[in-house]
Amino acid sequence: MSKGRKKILQKLSLKANLSVMKTEISFKITCFTGGPVETHAYLIALPEGNLLVDAPEGAADYFREMPINFLILTHSHFDHVMDAAKIVREKKCPVAMHFITEEHLADKTLCRRFGLPYEIEPVKATTYLQESKQQNILGAHFDVFEVPGHCPGSICLYNESAKILFGGDVLFAGGVGRWDLPGGNGKLLIDGIRKKLLTLSPETCVLPGHGPETTIGREAKTNGYLISS
Ligand SMILES: [Zn+2]
Ligand SMILES: [Zn+2]
Repeated sequence: MSKGRKKILQKLSLKANLSVMKTEISFKITCFTGGPVETHAYLIALPEGNLLVDAPEGAADYFREMPINFLILTHSHFDHVMDAAKIVREKKCPVAMHFITEEHLADKTLCRRFGLPYEIEPVKATTYLQESKQQNILGAHFDVFEVPGHCPGSICLYNESAKILFGGDVLFAGGVGRWDLPGGNGKLLIDGIRKKLLTLSPETCVLPGHGPETTIGREAKTNGYLISS
């Protein structure tokens, strides 16, 4: 990796060591950014342990000294799961994902069919996640939204008390997930975002899988993919 690129990545990681302080509660969140397309992983300190959302390449090394008590994968794309098996093995932590994500991860030829030179080690889910309210994860409550269209089985995690959304590759600052990859569907994606995410309170902080954080209110007002008819 070039020195310049490393510096940018470090800057991103440092900038994203954020403590989200909203209404009733606050979570300490540590962000790692890594892998070939600068994917974010978020380590969230919850009342009963640390939750890691997504496992890009390099995450296992980055979080080696920190406990990880639960791993959640937002979707099956290679850049979010490259270190998942390693983390589960090293930390002996349970891992939750949509059942479609598990199916994709079991398919060793998937990356090559995408034209990517990677082989992802499969991970079996301890728990399946699907659309649901108030899932207790390490002593905090999360709503799980299924928002396909970027990738089948794609989920977002929402904590109402902290007003925070872990968006995976569904909603970005000024953008939405690409839908030109196998299984993608632009209409499904935009409809899902409008129906399930834009209806959250405007001050909800969105922590996406790539790029800077944003809020639901800002995206509802300014995101060109969502305001045009
Ligand atoms: Zn993706
Ligand atoms: Zn991604």
